[in-house]
Amino acid sequence: GGFGLIDLFRRELLKQGVDDTVEVAFSGCRGFCEQGPNVIIEPDRTFYRRVKAEDVAEIVALHLKGNQVVERLLYKDPKSGVLCRTYDEIPFYRHQMKVVLEHCGFINPEDIAEYIAVGGYRALTKALTQMTPEEVLAEVKKSGLRGRGGAGFPTGKKWEAARRVPSSKRYVICNADEGDPGAFMDRAVLEGNPHSVLEGMLLCAYAVGSDEGYIYVRAEYPLAVRRLRIAIAQAERYGLLGENILNSGLNFRIHINEGAGAFVCGESTALMASIEGNRGIPRIKVPRSTEKGLFGKPTVLNNVETFANVPQIILRGSDWFASIGTARSKGTKIFALTGKVQNSGLVEVPMGITLRELIFDIGGGIKGGKKFKAVQVGGPSGGSLPEDMLDLPIDYESLTGAGAMMGSGSMVVMDEDNCMVNMAKFFLNFTERESCGKCTPCREGTTRMLEILEKITLGEGNLSDIPLLEYLGGVVKATSFCGLGTSAPNPVLTTLSYFRNEYLKHIRDKH
Ligand code: SF4
Repeated sequence: GGFGLIDLFRRELLKQGVDDTVEVAFSGCRGFCEQGPNVIIEPDRTFYRRVKAEDVAEIVALHLKGNQVVERLLYKDPKSGVLCRTYDEIPFYRHQMKVVLEHCGFINPEDIAEYIAVGGYRALTKALTQMTPEEVLAEVKKSGLRGRGGAGFPTGKKWEAARRVPSSKRYVICNADEGDPGAFMDRAVLEGNPHSVLEGMLLCAYAVGSDEGYIYVRAEYPLAVRRLRIAIAQAERYGLLGENILNSGLNFRIHINEGAGAFVCGESTALMASIEGNRGIPRIKVPRSTEKGLFGKPTVLNNVETFANVPQIILRGSDWFASIGTARSKGTKIFALTGKVQNSGLVEVPMGITLRELIFDIGGGIKGGKKFKAVQVGGPSGGSLPEDMLDLPIDYESLTGAGAMMGSGSMVVMDEDNCMVNMAKFFLNFTERESCGKCTPCREGTTRMLEILEKITLGEGNLSDIPLLEYLGGVVKATSFCGLGTSAPNPVLTTLSYFRNEYLKHIRDKH
């Protein structure tokens, strides 16, 4: 509803005669999605939420002309009952640490000048004028940045591997094919601050010696695609993309490739096949993409959030970045917090924060005073963690150890009313449909597992179905060809571990 409000505000300012003193600006997502559309009055930072067309005249008359706050549109903290006037006072924002999202929701993503005004492209200038490519690479390595797309591979190591391969051509690819149900962090970065991603890719190109890059973005994100196109055109006009960038000798251009909605194309080799014009199915990962990737050339592939971290690392230094997070998981991570929480939206927190802090301090706890039951971390590839794991620190190793995974960072919270068997069935249904069919364990295994889950939830299950599900899940995990298959059983296996009684109840009560 935000776009409609922009026009209404402009017309109302004109009507009430304040159009010469007040400017209507727009920005990307500020993260507090369920409270949208948000209207923020600067410079006093007043935060109005769920603003409707009929509120516009009142905001102009009372706030902008009369200098009074429209109290009924302020956010009221459900825990304390306190009215929060500015966004800094809202607990949802107060407990976050914004690095990647720092400027999302504050700058106009369609104006490169606004990105530059907040320090944008300073990291690139610094790298091109004061650092060698080796120094940029060393800085990224030293920062400890790991891939934010799921697997958590060290970014600097990946860049180094591509740089080391002798070749006259190297590619840089940004994976923006965010397809997990419940994940929308990449979308928010692309829509809210696309230049930060371009700058990260440029720094990578400089470090590894590449002159060509691709952004593989979902066609279902039309606004992100539009803003990327605008950002690329503006960067080209400013001499920040193209030939001899800032007279440094660096040449780099970026193409946009729109994906057609196949979840498996988020897998690196399938994504590259799709860019090459082939069917998007994974290939065996030897040789690695860093040796032989896109069009057979050394290729670095990172996701949106990973690239968006890089300018900050170069600008503020690897020591600053490494000081955030845990010993092995550095920096911050963005999560899409959804489900039965009071405050849903995009949340950026330092690695190492506990699930409890994220769900209760930032998310405000469970809606309607209900009891927390579980949180599905990492989307359909992740796992469901129960209440006694709420104090688990959020980092790559802890989540994997608990049977879940960081994944892209979606977090779906469930309360006492949710059936965990149905939840596992929902996610498996998704992966089963998205299986590309190349290998038997994933194609057939997920289908058979889904049939068993359907039987159980229809009240037609047997006790012998449980060990069969565990056995099949183990086989699919161990023998599938790509990450989609090896992680597909996770929601079923974790719910079997932590919520086994719910399976037994379906089977025994025949419902
Ligand atoms: Fe395709 Fe699934 Fe095999 Fe991956 S694991 S190659 S998605 S069938």
